Amino acid sequence: MTIPSQNILSVSTIDGLGDEVNSVRLRTAKIVGEYIIPQESILAGQDGEEKRDSLYEELRNHVREQGLWKPHLPSEYGGMGAGFLTLAYMNEIMAWSPFSSSAFGIVPPSAGNESVLAKYASPEQIEKWLLPSIRGEMQSCFSMTEPDNPGSDPRSLTTTARLEGDEWVINGRKWFTSNARNADFAIVMCRTETEDDDGGVNSKMTQIIVPTDTEGFEHVRDIPVWGHTGHSHGEIKYNNVRVPKENALGSRGTGHAAAQDRLGAGRVYHCMNCVGSMWRAFDLMVKRATERQVHGGLLEDKQFIQGFIADSYMDIQASRLMTIHTAGIIESGKDPRTDISAIKVFVPNAFHRVVDRAIQTFGGIGVSTDYPLAGYYMGARTLRIADGPDEVHKILIAKNVLKQYHSGSSWDFG
Ligand SMILES: Cc1cc2nc3c(=O)[nH]c(=O)nc-3n(C[C@H](O)[C@H](O)[C@H](O)COP(=O)(O)OP(=O)(O)OC[C@H]3O[C@@H](n4cnc5c(N)ncnc54)[C@H](O)[C@@H]3O)c2cc1C
Repeated sequence: MTIPSQNILSVSTIDGLGDEVNSVRLRTAKIVGEYIIPQESILAGQDGEEKRDSLYEELRNHVREQGLWKPHLPSEYGGMGAGFLTLAYMNEIMAWSPFSSSAFGIVPPSAGNESVLAKYASPEQIEKWLLPSIRGEMQSCFSMTEPDNPGSDPRSLTTTARLEGDEWVINGRKWFTSNARNADFAIVMCRTETEDDDGGVNSKMTQIIVPTDTEGFEHVRDIPVWGHTGHSHGEIKYNNVRVPKENALGSRGTGHAAAQDRLGAGRVYHCMNCVGSMWRAFDLMVKRATERQVHGGLLEDKQFIQGFIADSYMDIQASRLMTIHTAGIIESGKDPRTDISAIKVFVPNAFHRVVDRAIQTFGGIGVSTDYPLAGYYMGARTLRIADGPDEVHKILIAKNVLKQYHSGSSWDFG
């Protein structure tokens, strides 16, 4: 007898969640389970680019009809206008397939830039950069990390922008600018104030929009990641790049706050994505264990594998509850920083462990591209560095806890 997968279509409503969140979860699950997962090989381009692109087009139209298009954007910009919790739960469902986010109009890093532009851009910048990006006519990248300074401490960056008349003049070097090769514009994190200026360390950076065809924008190379050369993680030199003064995003000195805005919410979505991907890896692992005969018995009867199943189940449930708890804190307006750091460390590590066990259960085929496991593994490992490495977030958690103890105020165990 073949044991069926715990298909995403078996998702049901959650008691206590509002009707809107439940409805979004179920509608998202239907699209992911009925249309995306069964056609993953086509979406991966195995039947050619033309077939892949036309399937994506069809899926995007269907997502629009279902009112689930661009959930990260407010409705005034054609997005779904989803609340924070709705979006977090939706991310969990979408992540059952690595091909969902593009079908729902969330293509990183352009999607992160769209959210920042929606919040900080002037009316002119919205016309010029945000709306074309939403219509799919433009792509973008986010250029913050530098080869010569630690990305784990973004306040150390040294790329400068100085005002000369009505223009910013930008000089510096960046790397890991994802999607640089295809981008029409970059949002570049620049130091606009000197060490001596007042205002504290957090008010010295400004994000500036730079069209990638501006003279002096030099794409040095794409950094191959995990041996792949297909993705673009650009190393960029900014050689006296001149852009109009109006290209500063938000007011001068708000670059650090805007970056935190982007990363803070983004971390919760990334963690819910990890949870969805963990469920998929778990489902693949358990199903494989029920089918694969080794050494005269099914894998499911071996205690090592049972240990993998139990440990993975605990990892997923713990990650899920921690992330939902953090989303609730954000929604309630309380200070979420300690909990954001906690999930940023715990969840990608749990994801890494779950996928590692699933790969081990599959044996050799686990590291092939026949299954999404190898891609998940690389993503999980990378997430332990990107958006702030584990160590930095652990330091922040301890700092916040100790500060609270020293202040004498009582701890909120909620
Ligand atoms: C695939 C990928 C895509 C990326 N995309 C982008 C992008 O689009 N735009 C962008 O701007 N950046 C991007 N990044 C860069 C990413 O944000 C940085 O790699 C990350 O912030 C870490 O910075 P770093 O690489 O300079 O490491 P460093 O800051 O040099 O840190 C190296 C290591 O030192 C350790 N460490 C750091 N601080 C401490 C401490 N206080 N105590 C103990 N140990 C410590 C940590 O283990 C850390 O991993 C991307 C990175 C990757 C891998």
